[in-house]
Amino acid sequence: MEVKENFSIKNLNTFCVDVKTKYFAQVETIDELKKILKDYKDEKIFILGGGSNTLFVNDWDGLMLRVDIKGKKVKKEDEKHVYVECNSGELWDDFVHWTVENNYAGMENMVMIPGTVGGGVAQNIAAYGQNITDVLFEIEVWDIENEKERILKPEDCNFAYRSSNFKHEWKNKYVITKVIFKLKKESKDLELSYHERAGRYGSLLEELQTFAKEPYSLKDVAQAVKNQREKRLPSVDTCGTCGSFFQNPVVSLEKFKELEKKIPDLQSYPVEGLNYEKEKNQEEFVKIPAGRLLDELGWKGSWDGNVGVSEKHALCVVTDKKAKGEDVLEFTRKMKQSVKDNYEVELVEEVNIVL
Ligand SMILES: Cc1cc2nc3c(=O)[nH]c(=O)nc-3n(C[C@H](O)[C@H](O)[C@H](O)COP(=O)(O)OP(=O)(O)OC[C@H]3O[C@@H](n4cnc5c(N)ncnc54)[C@H](O)[C@@H]3O)c2cc1C
Repeated sequence: MEVKENFSIKNLNTFCVDVKTKYFAQVETIDELKKILKDYKDEKIFILGGGSNTLFVNDWDGLMLRVDIKGKKVKKEDEKHVYVECNSGELWDDFVHWTVENNYAGMENMVMIPGTVGGGVAQNIAAYGQNITDVLFEIEVWDIENEKERILKPEDCNFAYRSSNFKHEWKNKYVITKVIFKLKKESKDLELSYHERAGRYGSLLEELQTFAKEPYSLKDVAQAVKNQREKRLPSVDTCGTCGSFFQNPVVSLEKFKELEKKIPDLQSYPVEGLNYEKEKNQEEFVKIPAGRLLDELGWKGSWDGNVGVSEKHALCVVTDKKAKGEDVLEFTRKMKQSVKDNYEVELVEEVNIVL
């Protein structure tokens, strides 16, 4: 394992920000991980996956570890379920395709999300009505400070909407090394309804009807999601982006009714997610699409220098791959301020900002 010094990570983050890290290492095994953490124990650690939800603003004055531990296999199975263990450095999209190929149900709506399996757990990813927590069984981590392995259950991790302990108190302290998923076996007897496959997204059903026949297979659903995402989201091949820059805000029902009068066709969704704001009565709050607020304010397709907003989706901040982290930060501060000034709604970043 090579340790690089003063290394640019421009090609390792999807905003393509050209920042440098004092030390950089790509670990492919647990032994490599343990060794490097021992050798560089006085350095500040940053754990990097695919860099698809991280905005780097400054150089990293420490050791950046890219977790590239690969491998997946079926651990055990019963009549209805299969338990698959996947090392955290696997690319999420490759893993989802593998489950679909093998007829294991539960992740097919989450195709095409960039990044790694470890990053997906940390971020608590979701798409088209499916959430990683629906299929998470166990998470293996390396506890850097105490130099020991821990096995965590999802309920230990404080998962909430696009959040988990891995983004907060365990940030850069626990390295996710392996994830065990519990997936449903696809079989003729096990009749998975369309609704279970495609959730409440009517647009997915419309997409399916354009090329597939009922009963829809996992492959059909994954293909429909892919078709929709290609139409609706920017691609990391053509621009710098981390997808949605902000979380969809949660507002009171009263606030929603007020906003509805100003913003035509504003949708609302139930507040979901484990442990979500426990103290609040979930029925009195709804989630609203931040993209709709930004669209109404004219942000979609607008640019300032090297940073802009996707033509396809007002929540996706994009760059020409030359922008600095600071440029993105400044631009997104203006977006936040305009939503605050016009609607008195505080947007919160979904993307991790590394200052
Ligand atoms: C075009 C596009 C579309 C997207 N669509 C979606 C979507 O539909 N749904 C969605 O939820 N997200 C979406 N995202 C966001 C992003 O892809 C996910 O959040 C992804 O899971 C991030 O994974 P990563 O490996 O790139 O994480 P990184 O950006 O590398 O890291 C994210 C956080 O996780 C931590 N981390 C990473 N790996 C580990 C590990 N092994 N152990 C401990 N901590 C770790 C990092 O320190 C950091 O805090 C999209 C992004 C893009 C660019």
